[in-house]
Amino acid sequence: MSKHHGKHRRDRSPEETGASASQRDVSHRKEGSRGKDGSRGKADKKGEARRTGHRPPSSAHWAREAESRATAAGETIDPRLAPAAPGIVTVQPGTRCDLDAIDANTDGGLDKEEAKAALATERARIATLQERLYAEHKRSLLVVFQAIDTGGKDGTIRAVFEGVNPQGCRVWSFKVPSAEESDHDFLWRYHAKAPARGMINVFNRSHYEDVLVVRVKDLVPEPVWRARYDQINDFERMLAAAGTTVLKFFLHISKDEQKERLEARIANPDKHWKFDPADLVERRSWDAYQAAFADALTACSTPHAPWHVVPANRKWYRNLLIARTIADTLEAMDPRFPEAKAGIAGMTVPD
Ligand code: AMP
Ligand code: MG
Repeated sequence: MSKHHGKHRRDRSPEETGASASQRDVSHRKEGSRGKDGSRGKADKKGEARRTGHRPPSSAHWAREAESRATAAGETIDPRLAPAAPGIVTVQPGTRCDLDAIDANTDGGLDKEEAKAALATERARIATLQERLYAEHKRSLLVVFQAIDTGGKDGTIRAVFEGVNPQGCRVWSFKVPSAEESDHDFLWRYHAKAPARGMINVFNRSHYEDVLVVRVKDLVPEPVWRARYDQINDFERMLAAAGTTVLKFFLHISKDEQKERLEARIANPDKHWKFDPADLVERRSWDAYQAAFADALTACSTPHAPWHVVPANRKWYRNLLIARTIADTLEAMDPRFPEAKAGIAGMTVPD
């Protein structure tokens, strides 16, 4: 497994990476395709560029700006955060996330049965530490899962949190916003579900949807979703300052793997409830989603809340890496039972 250890540094310029080339293509396609929502088309933008001398930055330009902003400040991941389990690729703040360069299929050379046994050990660690966190009642943990359809968010949550006291753990799944949610700022519904002191909250999809599906499907004008990367970073910085450790996992699967998983859902009547024919339409936007994921992971991997990319084609490997990282994170938080009230040790209970 050690050969997969270590941080994956991405120092290549956007032009040198295949992912970025597709991002440029996507941004160009999108420029020509907007207009329904009142945002400007390509011709208008060119006109504005002539008048003002200012052109809105392309995806690649903007990604470079995001990188240099963080590196210029010399920011590195907060040393109080535990490193991710070896096998996970953590996006270093200020470096470009190149998903194409990360092998979704790896199993780290691990044996499946051994990994399952190791998962049980990690679950026990999480359960023990969760009790301390709950008893301490000072800090909290927010675990964010993002992935493409069939990426394995539901399965991960089921496997990793089995055995954790449900009283100290809440899972929130975010769907298409309701009318009430849409009437508020985009962070409103997520902030309301952030963990209280002592709690572990899990986001099955999250505030990142507002720079992912929203961007890919062109649900708001580009300047609106572009501004959200900074807004998300500010939101997470505020949570961290308030005592919430923010742990973000991107479940990285390959396009072939998604095909297999969709086919398996079609083949198994017990899985039909999970199959949405719209997933086939979404699959056509695979490249646009990958570009949106890469941009979000680049712009929002910060010293206080870095992104962790998990090779996720092998479910058992994915589960182990995530469980281990959560256990290590809780251990690094080092939650303590509160001090007992004086004199309890010698007390007797009256009949
Ligand atoms: P599922 O996770 O399969 O139950 O699907 C939930 C759906 O809600 C997915 O298609 C998401 O893309 C969609 N969704 C989640 N958050 C948002 C959002 N902020 N805006 C639009 N669609 C969203
Ligand atoms: Mg779905």
